Amino acid sequence: MNIAHGLPDNFNADSYDVLVVGAGYAGAVCARRLAEALNFKVCIVERRDHIAGNAYDYEDEAGILVHKYGPHIYHTYNDRVHDFLSRFTEWTDYQHKVLANIHGTLMPVPFNHQSLKLAFGEEKGEHLYRKLVATFGQDKKVPILELREKNDPELAEVADYVYENVFLHYTMKQWGKTPDQIDPAVMGRVPVFVGDDDRYFPQAPHQGMPKDGYTKLFENMLNHDLIDVFLDVDVRSIMQLTDTSVMVCGKPYGGEVIYTGALDELFGFDEGPLPYRTVDMVFETLPEDQFQPVGTVNYTVSENFTRITEFKNMTGQVVPGKTTIMREYSRTYLPGVGETPYYVINEPENIELYHGYRDRVAKLVNFHPVGRLAEYRYYDMDGVTASALELSDEIIAHH
Ligand code: FAD
Ligand code: UDP
Repeated sequence: MNIAHGLPDNFNADSYDVLVVGAGYAGAVCARRLAEALNFKVCIVERRDHIAGNAYDYEDEAGILVHKYGPHIYHTYNDRVHDFLSRFTEWTDYQHKVLANIHGTLMPVPFNHQSLKLAFGEEKGEHLYRKLVATFGQDKKVPILELREKNDPELAEVADYVYENVFLHYTMKQWGKTPDQIDPAVMGRVPVFVGDDDRYFPQAPHQGMPKDGYTKLFENMLNHDLIDVFLDVDVRSIMQLTDTSVMVCGKPYGGEVIYTGALDELFGFDEGPLPYRTVDMVFETLPEDQFQPVGTVNYTVSENFTRITEFKNMTGQVVPGKTTIMREYSRTYLPGVGETPYYVINEPENIELYHGYRDRVAKLVNFHPVGRLAEYRYYDMDGVTASALELSDEIIAHH
């Protein structure tokens, strides 16, 4: 891998078989696969001053490895994704645990057997748990919106408690809407768990943290003779789309283009901006060994931030006397002013707007949108990797 800041004066796009926009999972996975499978010479342009996209991690001034764009915990059910990424890192055996701070009591989330007993007392909690097991089965994930539909008064009591104390206020802070007003799949990400597993991703067979961090994983993935990376380059300075071709440096480009940025931005928002939520990540280093007992504590009934993450608890890094934490404040994303569009808002009118843009690139056979931004989808890291593996399969099959 060659890595440079800015493009050289003699930059020649035609000397590359593929132009990749963005050095996050979507871009890096495609880059590696096309270099390996097709011997393609790959040019990656990335407008940030680093690789790894939103998974980027770095050591802060206290020497603590932190995640710049929010806490990232690797987990997947997908063996192919796991096998692919495992070529570039070993994993720690970290199992992510989250506690909700509910009026000062810390209860496991997803809400589980233990949470029931903490919320309702030992005896009643056990009784309600037996009822949940009888209704849904042992070790089952039940979306809160499904639990709320049950008519049984005891189950309704559980549903009301969890809805009010785990989901309602947190969701209002995160999305500015109630759980009933947003895509049910979003709530479904964090079910009620009818069992004792107290991990945030119960039953996910592969979970952990990359042993030397995410940025190192990306360095290894991009470490290939045929891959050049140019940081601090916004592709809009060299690439424009017409109805019939992708223009790069003023000429129609004949290679493949993997685009992992936002589509509305590429068209100057001319059909209107795609809505997102952004997050203000506020870091603080404290003069103590440990601030909280787990990686993340969700503030589900109080505060105006959603959660606090303590990085050392996730990475296992040992730094005596110091720890760095981060609070997340979610708000509406303002387009075109350099903010980070973190979360897509999956509502029908937004999807329609997205398809308006997507239809305009459909005729450009060498232009491939992929990833959380370009597909306007709420993907986790494994979902993006799977999508990029599929796209690269198609391109490999085509050549
Ligand atoms: P990105 O990582 O956003 O990469 C796209 C890249 O393209 C960016 O680096 C961007 O700078 C670049 N780019 C865009 N436009 C241009 C342009 N015009 N010119 C040049 N470059 C451009 N997933 C998990 O699996 N587990 C988690 O715990 C987890 N936690 C998360 C927490 C938060 C707060 C957020 C927001 C996301 C989290 N995710 C998590 C999701 C994860 O971040 C994404 O799935 C993944 O990083 C998306 O990869 P990507 O390549 O699609 O996009
Ligand atoms: N959620 C909630 N309370 C919680 C955890 C999650 O209300 O304690 C809701 C909230 O709407 C959130 C969604 O479930 O946006 C998905 O949570 P997840 O932790 O998967 O979100 P992410 O890590 O992607 O921000």
